[in-house]
Amino acid sequence: MIFAGGCLCGDLRWKASAPPRYMGLCFCADCRKASGSGLIPFMGFDAAALTITGRWTVHTLTHADGRAAVRNSCIVCGGLVFGGKLGETDRYNIYAGSLDDPAQFKPTVALFIRDKPDWVVIPSGLKQFEAMPG
Ligand SMILES: [Zn+2]
Repeated sequence: MIFAGGCLCGDLRWKASAPPRYMGLCFCADCRKASGSGLIPFMGFDAAALTITGRWTVHTLTHADGRAAVRNSCIVCGGLVFGGKLGETDRYNIYAGSLDDPAQFKPTVALFIRDKPDWVVIPSGLKQFEAMPG
């Protein structure tokens, strides 16, 4: 199965030659603020399986514990598409809302539910974690 997607305007595109290693929903406050939504749906792909083309803006935010969260959005339309600095990690989180076929997204975990607002409902059947698992 081919996984592919991109931003709203089509300038920033991605394609994966292998399925994601994991799929889930992140309810952390950073994802909420970064997306302007209640959560970010993510899919973890190996860098070796992924091709990303187009132009994007890199937003880097350093957490209190020193970790850096990197999010990338299309330079043309602003659509948020993937996390991680290209060329510097062996796995990337692609945001599932960018899928051409959103039905391919089958989340199994819910992360940072301690930050989840009451107006966001967790789909049934997901393994839930208060924060980031182990
Ligand atoms: Zn775009």
